[in-house]
Amino acid sequence: MILLHPHRRDRAYADDRSDEVMRKTIAFFEAKGKRRLKEDDQGAVWYRDFLDFVASEGIFATMCTPTGYGADDSRWDMWRICEFAEILGFYGLPYWYTWQVTVLGLGPIWMSDNEAVKTKTAALLQDGGVFAFGLSEKEHGADLYSTEVTLTPAGDGTYRANGSKYYIGNGNEAALVSTFGKRADTGEYCFFVVDSQHAAYRVVKNVVHSQNFVSEYALDDYPITDADILSRGDDAWDAALNTVNIGKFNLGWGSIGICTHAFYEAVHHAAHRHLYGMAVTDFPHVRRLFTDAYARLVAMKLVASRAADYMRVASPDDRRYLLYNPVVKMKVTTQGEDVINHLWDVIAAKGFEADTYFDMATRDIRALPKLEGTVHVNIALIVKFMENYFFHPVDLPAVGRRDEAVNDDFLFDQGPTRGLGKIRFHDYARVFKRFDIPNVTVFAEQTEVFKRMLVEATPTEDQQRDTDWLLAVGEIFTLVVYCQLVLENAEIYKIEDDLVDQIFDVAVRDFSRFAVDLNGRAGTTADQSRFCLEMIRRPIRDDERADRIWTDHVYAQRDAYEMPD
Ligand SMILES: Cc1cc2nc3c(=O)[nH]c(=O)nc-3n(C[C@H](O)[C@H](O)[C@H](O)COP(=O)(O)OP(=O)(O)OC[C@H]3O[C@@H](n4cnc5c(N)ncnc54)[C@H](O)[C@@H]3O)c2cc1C
Repeated sequence: MILLHPHRRDRAYADDRSDEVMRKTIAFFEAKGKRRLKEDDQGAVWYRDFLDFVASEGIFATMCTPTGYGADDSRWDMWRICEFAEILGFYGLPYWYTWQVTVLGLGPIWMSDNEAVKTKTAALLQDGGVFAFGLSEKEHGADLYSTEVTLTPAGDGTYRANGSKYYIGNGNEAALVSTFGKRADTGEYCFFVVDSQHAAYRVVKNVVHSQNFVSEYALDDYPITDADILSRGDDAWDAALNTVNIGKFNLGWGSIGICTHAFYEAVHHAAHRHLYGMAVTDFPHVRRLFTDAYARLVAMKLVASRAADYMRVASPDDRRYLLYNPVVKMKVTTQGEDVINHLWDVIAAKGFEADTYFDMATRDIRALPKLEGTVHVNIALIVKFMENYFFHPVDLPAVGRRDEAVNDDFLFDQGPTRGLGKIRFHDYARVFKRFDIPNVTVFAEQTEVFKRMLVEATPTEDQQRDTDWLLAVGEIFTLVVYCQLVLENAEIYKIEDDLVDQIFDVAVRDFSRFAVDLNGRAGTTADQSRFCLEMIRRPIRDDERADRIWTDHVYAQRDAYEMPD
């Protein structure tokens, strides 16, 4: 069973503490119960109880302190971080978010050379502190070049920080807020830490209405010394982007957690609801929607855990993770929206009810693709890799499942963020060839047509400058990378052929949809259009396979899990 089940976890850990963190976190939420979970959500109640729990159990300290700064069992370990993020999403995005922005806030700290701040941070985590990441500003969104927070030299070797940040989670009580700014005199970028309780730190407001405190904060002549500065110049810039690489990856796992809980709730409701003398789950379209939702959800999980393997083996010579990572951020999270849409189409009015988990899911699933630079920013990044991915593969070491209990050192030493166009990949086509499964074959054929289009009707200079056109191309490319990761992990997790075929039944239809979309783009040439039409294919129908997936995987979950009240 690949989906998370709170009472039947099967993720193996090399140490007891990792398992304890997951078990206790689940136990906290199961004891809290759905009624209080919903009351707190509806009342937009700050999650004091959760933060008190993680403080008393030292959970953020264990999970977020790299080796050498905390207790022996503390380390930055993506294998366990994935499941932790999934569990938090499973019980509610707010709990995931307060941890997630803590991760982001810690990024520039652990990446810096400022050993004094790192030692202090480890102690603050031990005391149950949360952290914040002050990057975004009200007027500039994802455009870091326009940052307006400044550090002005005071003439005595110290600085005064001024300006405000917007959309900053935990900004109300973070022990340290990693803040991105510029030197007022030289324009040099810098990252520095401020204390949210300092008199010169002003919480202006919470810009959202939810359990989260997504703050606007202002620095009013906040005194900064060199001891508060984490990084300068290119290092500060790289720390911003490299932190996003580590932290925003968790968006995918938040999405997986939300979809998994919503799936259990939806299939339970539909299977027990009778209309016209039959169960709702007897309708063929309902079965199809549930089966598609399930196939998408399994694929999301295979992709996100496979991408984590590549993060764990990353090095200056192997930066493949820089492609797989935005694929998780953009594609896993938008697939999450599709899953919820399918489920909601089935359970309809039930999804609005105040006492369901589902009604939170319908709202929160939308947030994940938008919380980081939006889908467009990520696709624009992803297409930079397309040429090397398709046309210049190289031999690189094979990567297995990376579940070892080690600190992921490289993530805090990723180095310069430049040179993305130079990153090379292993031959994606090899894994497709290893699967003799009908819909995998159709998908591989669609991919070949897409590649031929790139060679024989090569995008023009104008098209490459047209982000609208590139986004349509990028959707297809992203789907290919996504499916490569699905297959690689299907091998590792020994996913049965039926399920792989079902996942690719969905993928073939998605490919065709994206081909229609590209075909309809104003900038697409007549030559390219012919290729687009050739990419449109039907999945290979297999009713017996679909029945087996429905019976053994989907309907089988109808009474699997209900959150206690
Ligand atoms: C609930 C919530 C919590 C958040 N928490 C934090 C936090 O803790 N810390 C923090 O620093 N930020 C946080 N953010 C900010 C978040 O990271 C921003 O939403 C994100 O940076 C995008 O900015 P924006 O939404 O203002 O979009 P904008 O930057 O205004 O972008 C608008 C549109 O422009 C286009 N666009 C912009 N840049 C590009 C590009 N490079 N390539 C292609 N298209 C582009 C896209 O189409 C995009 O949709 C949070 C936001 C929310 C809503």
